[in-house]
Amino acid sequence: MISLGVSERYQAVRADVDRVCRECGRNPEEIRLVAVSKLNPPEAVGEALAGGAMDFGENRPDELLLKAPQYPQATWHFIGNIQSRRIRDIVSHASLIHSLFQRDHAEKISRAAGEQGIVQDVLVEVNVTGEASKSGLTPEEAGPFAREVAQLPNIRLRGLMTMAPIGDMQAAQTAFQGLAALLGEIRETLPEGERDDFNELSMGMSDDWPIAVACGATIVRVGRAIFSDAFHAVN
Ligand SMILES: *Cc1c(COP(=O)(O)O)cnc(C)c1O
Repeated sequence: MISLGVSERYQAVRADVDRVCRECGRNPEEIRLVAVSKLNPPEAVGEALAGGAMDFGENRPDELLLKAPQYPQATWHFIGNIQSRRIRDIVSHASLIHSLFQRDHAEKISRAAGEQGIVQDVLVEVNVTGEASKSGLTPEEAGPFAREVAQLPNIRLRGLMTMAPIGDMQAAQTAFQGLAALLGEIRETLPEGERDDFNELSMGMSDDWPIAVACGATIVRVGRAIFSDAFHAVN
């Protein structure tokens, strides 16, 4: 078997995303493919960039701080656990924070963004299926939280993010459909001026992104399928 490099694997995944979009009647331009470069060295980011990648995801502030300044031409996403003391660093480098679900973090993000003279884009993380091992708000909590966050001066609420149960495609579909429905429900309850920006659904990873695309994902977060030689897609 011929082993591909990061650049080729990125292009293969992007081509697959485009194909799946067309198969389910969606425009490929509606889907942002975030290459999750966590645990990979900065050079791997360079290779993915050479293959056409523009969006990268990191789940640890230290890795974000290492790689983002080396590749300022890329768009950086923070997809990991937020700690209060790292919020300034995250806000300095991430154009979109996917994993917000605590009120005190929202307030600190808004304050840090204000100090840096920017407005920070964020997604609210929802634990749709209620798995104990996953972080995020329940669907019931997400609406009230979103309405509070939308009022903070230096935050722009862009949508919702979820992680589906691993290894169960039926459960993944249920989670993704649930998140898509929740986006529509919450949007109706936001102040008029906040509704148009609230349109992003970050869902789907290496194993389940085709299901997420079929359910309306606008952002898929793919790590192993791009960066790992050992990952073989089952779809
Ligand atoms: C690691 C990670 C991904 C990518 O997972 P893969 O299975 O490697 O594609 C996506 N989202 C989050 C939040 C992650 O931590």
